[in-house]
Amino acid sequence: MTELSKADWHAKAEQIRNAAQAGAKMIINGRKVDAASGRTFTSISPIDGRPLAQVACGAEEDVNRAVQVARAAFEDGRWASRPPAERKLVLRRFADLIRAHREELALLETLDMGKPIADSTSIDVRAVSNCFDWYGEAIDKIYDEIAPTAASAVAMVTKEPLGVVAAVVPWNFPMLMAAWKVAPALATGNSVILKPAEQSPLSAIRLAELALEAGIPEGVFNVVTGDGPEVGRALGLHMDVDGLFFTGSTQVGKYFMEYSAQSNLKRLGLELGGKSPNIILSSYRDTKHAASTSAHSAFFNQGEMCTCPSRLIVERSIQDEVVETLLTISRSYAPGDPLDPETSMGALVNESHANRVLAFTDHARTDGADVITGGKRARTESGGSYVEPTIFNNATNDMRIAQEEIFGPMLTVIPVDSVEEAIKTANDSCYGLASAVWTDDLATAHRVSKSIRAGLVYVNCYDCDDMTTPFGGFKESGIGRDKSLHALDKYVELKTTWMNIEGRP
Ligand code: NAD
Repeated sequence: MTELSKADWHAKAEQIRNAAQAGAKMIINGRKVDAASGRTFTSISPIDGRPLAQVACGAEEDVNRAVQVARAAFEDGRWASRPPAERKLVLRRFADLIRAHREELALLETLDMGKPIADSTSIDVRAVSNCFDWYGEAIDKIYDEIAPTAASAVAMVTKEPLGVVAAVVPWNFPMLMAAWKVAPALATGNSVILKPAEQSPLSAIRLAELALEAGIPEGVFNVVTGDGPEVGRALGLHMDVDGLFFTGSTQVGKYFMEYSAQSNLKRLGLELGGKSPNIILSSYRDTKHAASTSAHSAFFNQGEMCTCPSRLIVERSIQDEVVETLLTISRSYAPGDPLDPETSMGALVNESHANRVLAFTDHARTDGADVITGGKRARTESGGSYVEPTIFNNATNDMRIAQEEIFGPMLTVIPVDSVEEAIKTANDSCYGLASAVWTDDLATAHRVSKSIRAGLVYVNCYDCDDMTTPFGGFKESGIGRDKSLHALDKYVELKTTWMNIEGRP
């Protein structure tokens, strides 16, 4: 929660809107620039359907420009050659500046993509500053290796930055998904080009300005705005981009594999979609708590979560009690004004996404599930894109609502008759990002968590999270991990230097 009132946030939002009238430019080589073509696109706020800003609409020539300056910055060592302890200080200063601009950044996020202001401030901005602090703090505490060779040699295994890396990110947590890539990439000394989603470009531009203020040198952190098929594709195909780190849909992740294969085999990190199973077993004592936590996690961020526990797999004996609690919690997620600090569910990112999400109500009915609440638009008078929290009951795992990522406030309840059936159902998906099991039986907790093919398994909780643990998926949910020290590996090359120390005869 924040201390500002709804009226305060509205007043601040108007100031941001007025400032945005000037237009939003890309950041290349430390300067605000228009697209080379002069083209712009209109960013529309989903909270009321009003235009927010004319944003520079980049294309291949802008990507070329950004890659060129990023390469020059990398080659002259203005950032890469700085001692890790110095990079740490700059990244921590950047984190401080993000905290100092907390309200402005939170508003940009809420206005651009519709999430409640209480979440933008207390979750998004806080997590972003924490992420830069964490990687800044870590980077001067990591050692290279000396291999255990024979005494006749010294073999060093050292880590070197990849070079020029691109980050292509989605709109559901615009700044946070960017931070999970930009922070470890900068910490390890790379030059970065960030491409935000076209639905949510404003916070990325502001972040790059704050990075400059913090002391990240010109050309080291660039932002190119524009469409995925133009800017994202040009980055993916660029011969001088060494690594591309993507968060987004599985479909687009597959395109990036093609782009890499068609160009320079650039390294890829892919954080993709999910359809997370959440198993509530009768061996968990507090059914109400499990159901209530599950509903909060399913409706948080309008369900626009890669980890959304959208498949609730429940033992039939406790299904009715679980469903009753889900219904109760869903009522506290009635969509509201995102600028009201009391609101827990805001707007979906745009009209076309709201229509796509709503279509799943028809799929549910066609396939034979019960739509027990929601399934309709809300707050139509606002001009924004709001959808009611929706619950589908008595579904089976072969239905579209159980197999496809909805990315909206829709929860599917699938009853099962045994732990074995629960595990089988959980794994019957092309995705493997997050999952959960609720049980008080230790042996069952171990067995189920080991059996689930997913990168994240929560036991008796959901979305428990901090910077210390890796985040990413099995199967079509991606390749590689964000967060934790493991993420640093993506942004470095390993170099072996073998020195013969025995003198020649
Ligand atoms: P998206 O794949 O449509 O877009 C993501 C980014 O890719 C955007 O910047 C977009 O402009 C760009 N893009 C789109 N088409 C492209 C193309 N043809 N070539 C190159 N770039 C292109 O995803 P979205 O709708 O923005 O986000 C929702 C998706 O993101 C969901 O599938 C969700 O699960 C996933 N996601 C995954 C994680 C994770 O960590 N695994 C986190 C958040 C979101």
